[in-house]
Amino acid sequence: MADIQNLEQRFEGISVQDENLDVNTAVAAQHKQKGSLSHAISLTNLPSNTSTTQPNRLKLPLQKLPANSQPKGPTPLTKITLPSQAAQRPSSDSRPSDPDPIAHLPSEPKPKPKQWHLGLFEIGKPLGKGKFGRVYLARERATGFVCALKVLHKSELAAGKVEKQVRREIEIQSNLAHPGLLRLYGHFHDSKRIFLILEFAGKGELYKHLRKAQRFSEPVAAQYIAQMASALKYLHKKHVIHRDIKPENILVGIHGEIKISDFGWSVHAPNNRRNTMCGTLDYLPPEMIKPSREDSFYSEKVDLWSLGVLTYEFLCGEAPFEDSMVMTQRRIARCEMTVPSFVSSEARDLIKRLLVLDPEKRLTLEEVEVHPWILRHCAKKEGEK
Ligand code: ATP
Ligand code: MG
Repeated sequence: MADIQNLEQRFEGISVQDENLDVNTAVAAQHKQKGSLSHAISLTNLPSNTSTTQPNRLKLPLQKLPANSQPKGPTPLTKITLPSQAAQRPSSDSRPSDPDPIAHLPSEPKPKPKQWHLGLFEIGKPLGKGKFGRVYLARERATGFVCALKVLHKSELAAGKVEKQVRREIEIQSNLAHPGLLRLYGHFHDSKRIFLILEFAGKGELYKHLRKAQRFSEPVAAQYIAQMASALKYLHKKHVIHRDIKPENILVGIHGEIKISDFGWSVHAPNNRRNTMCGTLDYLPPEMIKPSREDSFYSEKVDLWSLGVLTYEFLCGEAPFEDSMVMTQRRIARCEMTVPSFVSSEARDLIKRLLVLDPEKRLTLEEVEVHPWILRHCAKKEGEK
C-alpha cells in the first residue's frame, strides 16, 4: 500500500529535470524491428506494484477498457469517426485543455489543471501496442475531440524499471506545442494504470510508410526533413534534446505531416552528464558511443547527427551504419559510410554535413532549413513564413 502510494505520488505533480543522473546504461538488444536500446537501461529500483484500491479515488467505468488492457483483437468498443486533427477546433473548448506551461511566466496565474478520468472518454479501436502499453483511439465525450489514449500499466513500468523514463516523457512532452511534435494534452491515472491523452496521428508510423515504400523520393524525403528541422528547432529552443530520433519514433498526421513522438529519452539541455548510451544503435552519434572519453559531453547536436542518419535512411531505405552491433559502433565512431550513387549530389552534401564526427562542425538546424536540397524541394509559397 505504501509502495503504491509512493508510486502514485511519483506521477502526481511531476517535476523532473535531467534525470539521467543515475542511468547506468547497458547497450544490449536490437531495437524493435531493428534493435532498440530504449529499455535496456538500468534505473534505480522503484517499488513494484501491488493491487490495491485507492480510498479517495473516483470509481471509474473501467469496464470500458479490458481490465488487464489485453484486448483480444481489434474489437472497437465505440465506433469513432475521424475528423482530421487539424479540423478539430483548436480552441480550448474543443479539445482537452492544453496550456503551454513553458510559455507561462512565473508570475502568471496558472489555470487549474483539468481533472481527467477515464469516464470522460469513449474508447475506440486499439491503434497499436508498445512495450509497456496499448494505445486506443478515443474521444472526449464532452467535446467530441478525437485523441489517442495510451494506457500504461504501473506494474509493467515498475517491472521494466522505466517509471523515471515515463515521468520524464510526460513532463517534457506536455510542455511542448508544435505541429511537428506529437502533443500530450494531459494524463491521469488510477490505481493500476497511467493514461496519456495524446494527439491522434491518423496515418500511423512513418517507419511503416518507409518500409512499404522501401525508400522515399527526394521531394518526399526533403519535405519530411524540413518538417523535422522545424520541429527540432522548436525543441532545442525549449532546451530539450530528443536523443532518439528514428523512423519508429515519428508518427504521421492525417495530412501526411510528421509528428515526432517518444520523448522517453529526451532531456533538458545542456546535458553535462557523462555519456549515457541510449537510443537506437544505428542512430547513435559518435560522441555518445565513446564511453571512454571522460570529458565527452553531448549537446543538442546529437539530434543533428540523427537527422543525417534519417536523411540517409529516407533516401536509401536503410541506415548508413547498419551492420553487426560491434561493426555499427566502429563504423559510427569513424563515420564510415557511403552514399549510393542514385542519391543526388545535393542530398549527399546535406548528409555529409550532418554526419560529421565533431558535433560542433555539424550543420545547424537553421542551415539545414536553407540547404540547397531543402530549398529545391520545399520552396515556400508566397506569403509563407
Ligand atoms: P515503444 O514501447 O518502444 O515506445 P511504440 O512506440 O511502438 O513502442 P507506443 O508508443 O505504445 O509504442 O505505441 C504503440 C503503437 O500505437 C505505435 O506503434 C503506433 O502504431 C500506435 N500509436 C501510438 N501513439 C499513437 C498516436 N498518438 N496516434 C496514432 N497511433 C498511435
Ligand atoms: Mg512509442
